[in-house]
Amino acid sequence: MAKAVGIDLGTTNSVIAIMEGGEPTVLVNSEGNRTTPSVVAFKDGSRLVGQVAKRQAVLNAQGTLFEVKRYMGRTWEEVREEAERSPYDVVRGDDGGVRFVVGDDKYTPEQISAMVLQKLVEDASKTLGEKITKAVITVPAYFNNSQREATQNAGKIAGLEVLRIVNEPTAASLAYGLDKKGNETVLVFDLGGGTFDVSILEVGDGVFEVRSTSGDTHLGGSDFDYAVVNWLAEDFKKEYNVDLRKDKQALQRLIEAAEKAKIELSGLPETTISLPFIAMDPASNAPLYLEKKLTRSKFEELIGKLLNRIRGPVEAALRDAKLSKSDIDEVILVGGSTRVPAVKKIVTEMLGKEPNQTVNPDEVVALGAAIQAGVLTGDVDDIVLLDVTPLSLGVETKGAVFTKLIERNTTVPVRKTETFTTAEHNQTGVEVHVLQGERSMASNNKSLGRFKLEGFPAMPAGVPQIEITYDIDANGILHVTAKEKSTGKEASITIQNTTTLSDDEVERMVKDAQSHAEEDRKAREYAEAKNNLDSMRLQAKNIVDEASGATDEQKQPLLKVIDEAESAINSNAPKERLEEIGKELGEKLSAFQQATAAAASAEAAEAEQTEAAVSEDEEVIDADFKPAS
Ligand code: AMP
Repeated sequence: MAKAVGIDLGTTNSVIAIMEGGEPTVLVNSEGNRTTPSVVAFKDGSRLVGQVAKRQAVLNAQGTLFEVKRYMGRTWEEVREEAERSPYDVVRGDDGGVRFVVGDDKYTPEQISAMVLQKLVEDASKTLGEKITKAVITVPAYFNNSQREATQNAGKIAGLEVLRIVNEPTAASLAYGLDKKGNETVLVFDLGGGTFDVSILEVGDGVFEVRSTSGDTHLGGSDFDYAVVNWLAEDFKKEYNVDLRKDKQALQRLIEAAEKAKIELSGLPETTISLPFIAMDPASNAPLYLEKKLTRSKFEELIGKLLNRIRGPVEAALRDAKLSKSDIDEVILVGGSTRVPAVKKIVTEMLGKEPNQTVNPDEVVALGAAIQAGVLTGDVDDIVLLDVTPLSLGVETKGAVFTKLIERNTTVPVRKTETFTTAEHNQTGVEVHVLQGERSMASNNKSLGRFKLEGFPAMPAGVPQIEITYDIDANGILHVTAKEKSTGKEASITIQNTTTLSDDEVERMVKDAQSHAEEDRKAREYAEAKNNLDSMRLQAKNIVDEASGATDEQKQPLLKVIDEAESAINSNAPKERLEEIGKELGEKLSAFQQATAAAASAEAAEAEQTEAAVSEDEEVIDADFKPAS
């Protein structure tokens, strides 16, 4: 099989690597660098990618696209805030997605990412003297379906066969653990340019198992840069009454100067930011200069709030893996922003140990992706890679209850099938509502999609057997299939990019589930009480209808409770009342059955008749189906 590369398609920088002589190796680009800025520029009709694009950004702020990874697979509404502070034009596409406008042209985030991938692959092909067509591409662990699909599509646009989408922290530990023999619990702390990811993995004997993942897709080094930019701009505004952030060119220069200062402060206690001719004085029309000293402690104060946001995901990852900090054997740092001393300090303090610094934080993800590519093309043996789902997945069942099929933190790929049935008589179809989240009631979770399975014959409630299968593939993409067993009728959905799930949402949903646990339990119990009474009512009604030999006098007490049950259900009577009626219904039903026992054989014959009498024309399509007992 042809060789395949591993690509870390980063927010700020990208890296490409390959297995060479059994070792993962970074491939240099045509400028001789090991990392390539994920920047694309359009200038005078030509396209620039990488360092050359980054270098001309100041003079071409509106034509230089960077950090496009933040927009991959997202809807316009989700990224509006980021879009509005961007020096280049980001607009809403007709499909509700994101478009970058440069001159008369519009580009999708996938197209721009594809240009970065193309540059990486073309340069690497030259270095290797062999055309590269296959790749493994990494994404943050918290990327949802649509973000993963967008990444896969970027690969396709670039003419690549994407063998697999792999989580960045998993790739990192793959690179780290390759030579390890014993079993270790590893925490991968990945703070890059735009995203933050924490993963806890079990590593050893060639098996990498992700125990938990957490993160924040809105936290990274560029937020540190913006904190410095805002500080500089506010000060400048106070002094000269000019807001530098409103001038796209000045803003771009500020961003670059802020990043440079930040990087210098990783090694030095202070630095000076100096930007000559940054603006014109509106009063005197004279050029204005910006010159400012920034100390490391001032910088740490400016990013204080951002640093605090590191804590939550680390704690969540430990909690989800049911581990305490003393269980962690190694802490691996990934991403350029882990070079900030204050970040290292927080990690050390939170986990009670110094992070392992033997791996290069900029390259480790691409190296791991290359190993995974090697596994898939047969160059590397003895490694099994196991990832997990960040949130539970399930289906809406009767009473708007969320029924989970796959629990969060389940290892993928995973396939799970459960059998459901109808809750109403004569249903000739069901609607499958696919949801993701941790809450008990459907409406509190994230809706991923709906589809209908229709056209099976009308049957009494509880008879149809509807098999629902959730299948998450190795790329984390979900396929849901529903099948009615008697007819073999099938319908399915692949969750497309109509809805997306940001890390904030994931965090919120997990927290929500914890804080609403009691309320959810009550709602669920109420829905169950109602469902139980409804099933009993239907069952009792069937029995009365079928008991042709019973007298009105025998039927009356039971029919009365059946009516009471119906009105209690329709009027949402309190749970205690529903249970009380249920109890009474049970009593009246058994009394009725005893009284009519003699007519038992006649009833059996009637039962068949009832089934045959079910109307074939009646179409009842709703979410009223429930787990088959
Ligand atoms: P990555 O996405 O992993 O390439 O990380 C890029 C981010 O790391 C950018 O925000 C860089 O400014 C930041 N970065 C790179 N080197 C350093 C450094 N020495 N100190 C602080 N931040 C850095």
